[in-house]
Amino acid sequence: MHGDSQEAALTLAEEYCRERGEKLTPIRRKVLELLLNSGRATKAYSLLDEMRQIHPGSAPPTVYRALDFLLSAGLVHRIESINAFTVCHDLTQCQHGILVVCQQCGTVTELHQPKLRQALVAQIEDAGYRLASDEIELKGLCAACQAAEAAATAAAGSAASVAAAK
Ligand SMILES: [Zn+2]
Ligand SMILES: [Zn+2]
Repeated sequence: MHGDSQEAALTLAEEYCRERGEKLTPIRRKVLELLLNSGRATKAYSLLDEMRQIHPGSAPPTVYRALDFLLSAGLVHRIESINAFTVCHDLTQCQHGILVVCQQCGTVTELHQPKLRQALVAQIEDAGYRLASDEIELKGLCAACQAAEAAATAAAGSAASVAAAK
C-alpha cells in the first residue's frame, strides 16, 4: 500500500478509532503507518528500529503498547507462527478471515471465506475444542518465495550437472 491508499487507510483508521471513542495517537498512527509501509508481517523489534530512526528515544514499551492498542482495535493481526504483526487487510471491517502466512518473507494473505471459516470452526467445536484466538493462521510459502526456491534448486542442479560432466 503506498501513497494515497496509505493516507486513506490511516484516515479510515483514525475515524474508526474516533467512533469507538478512542484515539489514534501519533505513536499508534506511526506504528500503523510503518506496518502499512512494510506490506508484510513485521517483527516488533524491527518496528522499534524504524521508530528509533524517526524518534531516537523510542522505548520498547511505547511500541508494544501501540501494538496492543492496534490489536485490540482490530486494525492489525498478530501472526503467531512467525511472531510478527501485519495490518488487517480490510482495516476496520475485518470479519477475521483465514490468514495464510509465508514463513519465508512474512507476506500475509487474508482469505475472506466466511463459510469456510464457519465450517472449520464448527468442526473444531464438534471435536470439543474452542479456538484459543480469533486468528486462524495457515503456514505457507508465497509465489515469490517458491520461485526463488525453484531458481535456487535449478542453479544448484545445473552446478551439479556441470560438476558431473567434468
Ligand atoms: Zn483482517
Ligand atoms: Zn514469501
